[in-house]
Formats: sequence, C-alpha cells, structure tokens
Amino acid sequence: MTMDATPVSEALTPRDYKSDIKPVWCPGCGDYSVLGSITTALAELQLQPENVAVVSGIGCSSRIPAYANCYGFHGVHGRSLALGTGLKVARPELTVLVASGDGDGFSIGGNHFLHACRRNIDLTYIVMDNRVYGMTKGQPSPTTEPDWAESALAPGGTGLRPFHPLVIALASGASFVARAFSGDLLGTAALIAEAIRHEGFSFVEILSPCVTFRPDEREWRNQVHPASVEPTDDPARAVRRIMTDDGFNTGVLFSGERPAYSAATPDGPPVDAGYFEKEFEV
Ligand code: SF4
Ligand code: MG
Repeated sequence: MTMDATPVSEALTPRDYKSDIKPVWCPGCGDYSVLGSITTALAELQLQPENVAVVSGIGCSSRIPAYANCYGFHGVHGRSLALGTGLKVARPELTVLVASGDGDGFSIGGNHFLHACRRNIDLTYIVMDNRVYGMTKGQPSPTTEPDWAESALAPGGTGLRPFHPLVIALASGASFVARAFSGDLLGTAALIAEAIRHEGFSFVEILSPCVTFRPDEREWRNQVHPASVEPTDDPARAVRRIMTDDGFNTGVLFSGERPAYSAATPDGPPVDAGYFEKEFEV
C-alpha cells in the first residue's frame, strides 16, 4: 500500500495520516472513532507516515490499513500479529501498529496473541472488541457473553465462558495493557500514543460497538468510566483487578518493564533478513 507525500517541515495533523479512501463501515460503527484515535495519536507523536506501518488480519476492523496514510498490509484471517512480528523484526526502526478484532485476534489468531505477548516484541496491538463477528453477519465471537441469544447460530446463547483478553495478555507476558472505549476519541488516542511510546508489546483493547449486530452495545457509552486506580507494574495485582472489575473501566491497567525482544542475538550481530531471503530462494 502506498501513501501520499508528507508535507515537509510542517506539523502533521490527524488528517495527514488519513488516506483518501472512504471507509465503508456501517454508519455509527465504533471503528470510525478508532481510526480517528489512531490518526490523532500519530499526529501527537509527529511520526513520519513513511516510518509507520499498520497491519491487520480480516474483519471490519482490519480495514484500517486502507484508511491510514502510512504503509499498510491487509493480511489474512488471524495472522495480523504474525505479519507485525515479521515486519518489526526485519525493520525495527519502523513503528508497527497491528489492528484486529475480537474474532480475528482471539479465535483464529489466538495462538499468535499468546506468543506475541510472550516475546514482548515492540508492537502496538489494537483490538476493536465488539463481542461479535461483524463482517460475517453477527456470529458469537470468543468475547461474546454466554447468554447473548441474537445469533441464529446460537439461538439460546453459546453458554460458553468468554475469553478474557486483558488477563490472558498479562499471563502471557504483555508489558503494557490498557482498555479504551471508541466513543472517547481523544482518551483512546492518548492511550494509543502511550502504548506506542511503551517499549515492548502493548495491548490496547478498545470497546468498539457493532451497532448493526449488537445494537445493545450503544449502551456502553453509559457504562464506561475511567479506572479508579493508578496503573500497576505488578501483573498479579493487575490480573486480580481486571478479573474483579466491571469490564468497563478504561485507562492503562498495567505498565511494566521487561526488555523488548530484539532481533539481535545475545552474543552476535543483528539477524540479517537477507540471509533468510537467500535461504528460501526458489
Ligand atoms: Fe461496524 Fe458492525 Fe457494521 Fe462491521 S458490521 S462495520 S463492526 S457496525
Ligand atoms: Mg468483532
């Protein structure tokens, strides 16, 4: 994906990070605001678009790379973190944002999620969680409540315990964990900027309503509230808090310090991506 030319020596604005492609999300979809939060965060950090890449998998939220004026890659289902990992290891100087949804990121991409947290690669992982598969017309996802009974595929609800992404991220080694709400564009932008600044794997779960298949999620705007406590650097404490909170407190919930993975081997020179290209040449 290409991008527009960057204005020289002028402060960049959120508009500079938006492409000319018009989003095709449903009117009222939370993902519009998330796009605005991402472009606002990039403008706050004044990152040059040519030094930023947004990669994604498949789903409504994964359209984001097309709408951002930076490098981008719209990948295949569940593989956004695999793409982001490869890119960051090969081009560590780039700021790499990985965009996903609850279906893409926690179902088929669940295994990549665990290992990206464990590796603590310096990626910012933004998941637009609407607790439903939106693009494929409203099936329950890993984060859907067990008694949500609006899908023809699960007319009585799934009865399944939902996946708890923030807790799983912490148990797997993520070094920054935050929850945001798409309806708070500036608050979410600030969290994304902080996540980008954090060195290591940063996970921002954004509650982003799917107004088409989960109209009940419009109520989220009345339920979200800022976390009442300061972020902790103790993962066990963060897990206890997150397991017992109401699921609607927003802010940084954990920020720790752990060396980010680097492609440089402990005792040797940096890995040369050209070596692998040559090795797998056909
Ligand atoms: Fe957004 Fe849901 Fe429409 Fe997809 S189906 S664009 S998630 S409102
Ligand atoms: Mg979804």
